[in-house]
Amino acid sequence: MRIGLTGGIGSGKSTVARAMVTLGGVHLVDTDAISRALTLPGGAAMPAIAQQFGSRFVAPDGALDRATMRELAFQDPGAKRALEAILHPLISEETEHQAQAASPGQWIVFDVPLLVESGRWRQRVQRVVVVDCEEATQISRVVQRSQLTEAAVRAIVAQQATRAQRRAAADAVIYNDGISLDQLHQAVASLLTSPLF
Ligand code: ADP
Repeated sequence: MRIGLTGGIGSGKSTVARAMVTLGGVHLVDTDAISRALTLPGGAAMPAIAQQFGSRFVAPDGALDRATMRELAFQDPGAKRALEAILHPLISEETEHQAQAASPGQWIVFDVPLLVESGRWRQRVQRVVVVDCEEATQISRVVQRSQLTEAAVRAIVAQQATRAQRRAAADAVIYNDGISLDQLHQAVASLLTSPLF
């Protein structure tokens, strides 16, 4: 069974992913971590990025110069697509590689922040689980855990799929609002034993 897990920033998606591992023994593949690793020093995407965009986009330590790339991608949608054309096949390849490490019969959970936005994911999983909460809760959680201002978090939320779009793509929704972490764990445990799976 391949399960896609998604949710907006601050929804509690990473917390749910960890609970699925500890309570359900699933094999977790973190696509966000895979994507980040590709552009760290020595990352598999760096040679192609240097070749396509030039050394100006490579920081002295060999990582992607994120600020310079963000600026370019903001001004030039073609550059953003060219970067994605480098990253997406590498993400797919590494994701599949990590999925292969699951034991026979073990469920595989793919943590995919932009599952609903990307359109490449739906056909690769049998079920989609969405972690949902009120927007005000997303914002207060992220402001608390990061250095971001409320306005910056609102801007990120506005760029992501809406709650309604995400829920429309879901086979199951975990509503993570007004509940304790213990109650969230109970919700994950009961989902994993539900007839849906
Ligand atoms: P995401 O991966 O969706 O961005 P996280 O799982 O990292 O979100 O959760 C964001 C923050 O909110 C974390 O600090 C987490 O511990 C906290 N959190 C999530 N759900 C709850 C909850 N039900 N009760 C209390 N804190 C929560």
